[in-house]
Amino acid sequence: MMKDCLFCKIAAGEIPSNKVYEDEKVIVFHDIDPQAPTHLLAIPKEHVASCGAITPENSPVVAYLFEVIARVTEQLGITEFRVVSNCGATAGQSVFHLHFHVLAGRDMTWPPG
Ligand code: AMP
Ligand code: ZN
Repeated sequence: MMKDCLFCKIAAGEIPSNKVYEDEKVIVFHDIDPQAPTHLLAIPKEHVASCGAITPENSPVVAYLFEVIARVTEQLGITEFRVVSNCGATAGQSVFHLHFHVLAGRDMTWPPG
């Protein structure tokens, strides 16, 4: 657990979140400022700073997160969605704990802004 990391605190239950899925390794919860009718965040409980900090040691939980995203979206009846991870401030990252945005429920544009 990283001190002063918002998502470590959410993963530890120290800060409340609107969870849709949780197990010992990962948590999926609703984004507080949704950018689509469905906007979830899928995070490893273990602190990983961003996509740029994925290593052979922590990549299994990243693969597992995608498995959970597939399962959770299916359970919610979401068949079409976008998964986004902003890596670094200029790419739009504001919380420096790895997370995958799962956006659904509206038409998406490409490329993202
Ligand atoms: P990013 O800007 O890509 O790092 O994504 C961080 C996301 O975390 C943003 O979409 C925020 O709306 C969201 N967020 C920030 N604080 C919270 C919180 N307490 N609970 C849920 N989502 C949050
Ligand atoms: Zn963290």
